[in-house]
Formats: sequence, C-alpha cells, structure tokens
Amino acid sequence: MKNNRFKFMFLLLLCSILIIPSFVGVRQANAASTVTMKVNAESLNMRSGPSTNYKVVKVLKMGSKVTKISTKGTWTKVKSSSTTGWISSKYVVKVSTTATSSTTKKAVATVSNLNIRSGAGTSYKSLGKLSKGTSGTVLAEKNSWVKIKTSKYTGWVSKSYVSITTKKSTSTSSSNGSTVKPAATSTANVGKYFTVKVDSLNVRKSSSASSTKLAVIKKNSSYKILAQSSNNWVKITYATGKTGWVSASTSYGKITKTKPTTSSSNGNSNTGTVVPSTDIGKYFTITADSLNVRKSASATSTKLDTVKYGSSFKILDKSSNNWIKITYATGKTGWVSGSYGKITKSKPTKPVSNDGTNTSDGSLSGKVIVVDAGHGGSDSGAVANGVLEKDLNLQVALALRSKLQAAGAIVKMTRTTDIFPTLYDRVSFSNMMKPDAFISLHHDSATASARGFTVLYTKGKDSTLASYIKQGMSNSLPNMVNRGHKYQNLYVLRENPQIGVLVELGFITNLQEVQTLKTATFRNSAANGITNGLINYFK
Ligand SMILES: [Zn+2]
Repeated sequence: MKNNRFKFMFLLLLCSILIIPSFVGVRQANAASTVTMKVNAESLNMRSGPSTNYKVVKVLKMGSKVTKISTKGTWTKVKSSSTTGWISSKYVVKVSTTATSSTTKKAVATVSNLNIRSGAGTSYKSLGKLSKGTSGTVLAEKNSWVKIKTSKYTGWVSKSYVSITTKKSTSTSSSNGSTVKPAATSTANVGKYFTVKVDSLNVRKSSSASSTKLAVIKKNSSYKILAQSSNNWVKITYATGKTGWVSASTSYGKITKTKPTTSSSNGNSNTGTVVPSTDIGKYFTITADSLNVRKSASATSTKLDTVKYGSSFKILDKSSNNWIKITYATGKTGWVSGSYGKITKSKPTKPVSNDGTNTSDGSLSGKVIVVDAGHGGSDSGAVANGVLEKDLNLQVALALRSKLQAAGAIVKMTRTTDIFPTLYDRVSFSNMMKPDAFISLHHDSATASARGFTVLYTKGKDSTLASYIKQGMSNSLPNMVNRGHKYQNLYVLRENPQIGVLVELGFITNLQEVQTLKTATFRNSAANGITNGLINYFK
C-alpha cells in the first residue's frame, strides 16, 4: 500500500517534470532588484571567496558603494566597479534597493460562457465557464491557448476569446527593507530635504507621536525625505542604515527642494548630531585587535589614541554615521567607529571574542584591571641619570596591558600617552571602571645605592594582593632586590575603594639598576610578574 502510493507520487512528479518545461512562463520579473550597499569600516578586504582564507582582491574604503550579488553565511558577494568578490556582511549597510517591477498579464474574456479547460485544446474537459469581462491572471501560454488563474479555477482558455493586457506592478523598497504603502503616503516631497527648525526633534519608529522613540535629531540638520505619510510625517535616514519618522509639521521643520548649504548654528555639519536614545549609557566593547580613537566622528579626524580588543567603554554619545564617543583615558574623550565593536546593555563581565562569544580561556578572563602609569605630561616624576620616571612608568604600563590582555583581562588605562591625569582623575576613573584590581606603576628615587622593587598598599584589604604581586615579581625578576610589600599612605589607594597596589619597580637613582630598568626585557619580566601575581591572587 505504502509502496504503491510512493510509486504513484513518483510518476506524478516525473510527469510534472516532463510537462512543465514545455510551457512558457509568463509572470516573470523583468527587472531584478539591485541592492546597493555601503562599506561601514575604515577599510574592508574584498576576497576571492566567502572566508578570510581567501586572498584579498581589493581593499574597499569607508563609504564605498557596492552592488550586492548574493550572500553565503556571514559573507556577501558584491561587485565594486569591475571587481567581484566577497566581503564580511558585518561591515556593509544597505543603502537602497531599486524598484523591482514585475509584469503581470491578464486575460479578459471577450465572450460569454468561455470554457476553462483542463488542458490546451478543445479535447480537454471543461472545468467551468468564464463570463464576459471577467479576467484571470495568465500563468502560461501554449500555441493558441493560455493558462489562467481565476479566483475559482486554474485552467486553459482559447486565445481567440480573450484579450490579453499587460500590467506593470512596482514595489519600492525603502532602505530598511520595509515596503512603503503607496496608499498611506504622498510622493510630493519624496527626494526633497527636511531641515529641523526646533532645538531637537524625536525620530520615531512609525509616523505617529505615540510610536517608539528611536533617536533625537538636532536643529538645522537636514535629511532627504524617503517617504511621507498622509498625516504629514516624513521618513528619513537618521543614522547609517537606520530609518525613522519625524513630524514634518511646519512648526518643527522646513521642506526644501535642495539640501540647504548653510552650516548649522551649533557648528556641526548639517547632517546633525543624532542621539539614539537607546544606546547612550550602554557599553561598547572593542572586537577589533586595536581601534583608533579620534578627535571627532570621522576616520579622517586626528588620531588621539588606540584602544584594544576586549576593552569596554560606556557610550557617551553616538553620531549619525555610527561613531561612538567614549572616555578612553582619565578625563579624555574621543570617538571610535561603531563598526568594530559590540553594544551591550550592561558592562560585559567577560571579554568578547571576534565572533561575539565569550572567551573562556585565560586565567584573568573577565577581570577588569585598571593600570595606572604614574605621573605624565607636565609631571615627570623622579628625574635621574637622564631618565624621566613618567616615561618608564608608561612603558611598563603598556607592557603590562599586553600581558594582562593575553591572560584574558579587560584592561583600562588611566593614560596611554604622555598626559597628566591628576591623582583625583585617576581615582575617579577607577571608581567609574569599578575594576577587580587597580595597579599603579612607579619608579623609585633615593640615594644612589638604594635598589630593588617594592609593592605598596594602603588599605588593609590591599595587603594580600600586594603580597601576591611581590611574589610574582620576585619569581620573574630573580636578579632584582625584593624589598617586600609595605604599607604606605597613598592617595590613589586610600581614596580608591577598589583593591589596589602601587608598584615601585626599581630605583632610577641607582646608576646600575637604571640600565636594567630601561630595557624591554625588564619591562616584560616585570609585567609577567605582576600578571602572575594577579592570576594567583584571583585563583
Ligand atoms: Zn612616582
């Protein structure tokens, strides 16, 4: 029984395979939709295949437009000028979809009681009759017969008794892929520009004041109108790849044929500062190996610093072109491209790997460590034997950052360049980061004969960590004098509720020791010792 049914199904399938190709399909798209995408990364490798194993065929710059061909997994095949290749889908945003039009043919009965038959010939049986003036959608044509579909029947009618009309239907996709309903919109202002007249205007999910608020756009910023609703709201792209609706009431803005060229009153470019209310206060974690921090929200703006993979920052602001404002060092703010990180509601407790999953290896995995390079800028710290303490402190701090990150820690630096955060700034920064440990790095000065490293603590609860770090350093620096861990009343530890220590790495006043302190070997060994001390402390 089962077997017979399968044989029957198989025969049916075989028949349809043999029959279908002899018909000519009529309903077909006469214009394939073309999706244009924009590169949203400072530079993006275009490869010969859909993985990083394939060779780079072209490097695309931020903002370059490409045409989408297909997708495979997280990769998109695109065409850029004459080059075709694959790019990671993460770094492109859709900017537009051209109208897709399809042709629909209709067959209208020109006679009464027109037979709809089961096949293309009068020998086939009649399934029903079509009255004069009624129509069906043409599915296929064969010789002098057309296959049509009506609400009741699907069958064949003679071409002699129908008139065939062609109707073009066009659907236009907006940039976020939603279809604009022509009935509810007016096209009169589409393509024109809307300029905000009020200090700030809410961008909403749909054309209604009660709809979800997505962002706020600022006075004098202008946006191309993508669509307009019957209740006078306009659809705009308020940030790269993000569209929303704003009220186009004349009390809130002005519609002009061309983009106004006057600069905004707040000195920003007329694309405006967009504050997506949803991301401010959230956390941005870097997923690139290192990311440039710039003065303003642009890849061409002055580079201030770099931030490393896995570090997280509170989002202070977000620009319309998806750049994020962060505090990258004590009292210092700058902008990073939002394309190279992940936004999370709360501060990640574990480093985020490139594919967005938490890494579980690394013995300091998820630990947040503030590394404080003492002095800096106008404050040199101790000066002896041609060496400025601030420079050595920073070099060790940078080496320590690498070692800690390699062990899985999330490292926050009070400074990464030659700047001077005050002691108050350093403590405030630590309070903001709420680290698992605060490590301040200094070099000592005293008489020419004094030598060795010392680990200092102030609060009673800091002494255990001080002891572990002393032990770690003693192991990694066997030739250095171990001066032990000691209590000292230090502002950066006393005013800091977090567990912390201050490491005096060695004496720059000792002519022999300073030669060692200047070497990369010493810095790396000291960084290893401190890292191992932390690993053992957190075990
Ligand atoms: Zn110092």
